[in-house]
Amino acid sequence: MHKIVILSGAGISAESGIRTFRDSDGLWENHSIMEVCSDIGFMTNRQKVLSFYDNRRADLADKVPNSAHLMIAHLQQEYPDEIINITQNVDDLFEKAGCENVIHLHGELTKIICESCGHIEQIGYDSIHDHLNCPVCGLKKMRHHIVMFGEQAPEYQTLYQHLEQADMLVVIGTSGQVLPVDEYTGFVKYSILNNLEPSDAIREEAFDTVIYAKATEASVQIEDEIRMFLSYMK
Ligand code: NAD
Repeated sequence: MHKIVILSGAGISAESGIRTFRDSDGLWENHSIMEVCSDIGFMTNRQKVLSFYDNRRADLADKVPNSAHLMIAHLQQEYPDEIINITQNVDDLFEKAGCENVIHLHGELTKIICESCGHIEQIGYDSIHDHLNCPVCGLKKMRHHIVMFGEQAPEYQTLYQHLEQADMLVVIGTSGQVLPVDEYTGFVKYSILNNLEPSDAIREEAFDTVIYAKATEASVQIEDEIRMFLSYMK
């Protein structure tokens, strides 16, 4: 069996109205990224960080997937064993598009986690302030389920396990500042990069195909290439 890893970032959700980091000049919805996305920021001002993710969660409620999310969802339904859907995104647009097995490397906005016992609770678009007590251990230790700078990302191990078995890599909408996506091309026979523009953190020559366009436009070519690759590898 041939495996295709599709690795996405904030850019794939930009056309659904969720802002990327890069477009915000180092700010996320007008907050310093280190204040709201780092372990030190959280230790410094817990309430601010919990409220920040509350707002991001509430913002998600009316967002809908775009044709790039849907293209991946359809391929995954057709080729459930071949297509591995891995995202850095914390939104739920792949789930809304019908994807079942999404690997979220940096956590999910719609979940919260107990700092004491590790219990994970799905709260949808609710405020965390209505769910601060853990339903399992009873302690008031629930926090956002987002992996922040300075914290371990447990799913990185899963990413590497899939890359080691992959034949093709498709990278969509990431600046490569968090993950060295160009290095991952070394695992596969064929690779595609789609972003809006070149990034200082990505060696584009490491990829076989580079598409600088909106993800919704690039997704037509990406789908064709994935289908061709799968039929060629049969
Ligand atoms: P980034 O903001 O650093 O980079 C975004 C990339 O997407 C850029 O390279 C840009 O060229 C590209 N892009 C922008 N619009 C695009 C479009 N319409 N089509 C195709 N490409 C487009 O994002 P990142 O690399 O994912 O890293 C930032 C971190 O921020 C991630 O860890 C993620 O968890 C978090 N984040 C997530 C969301 C979300 O869940 N939607 C939003 C903002 C930030």
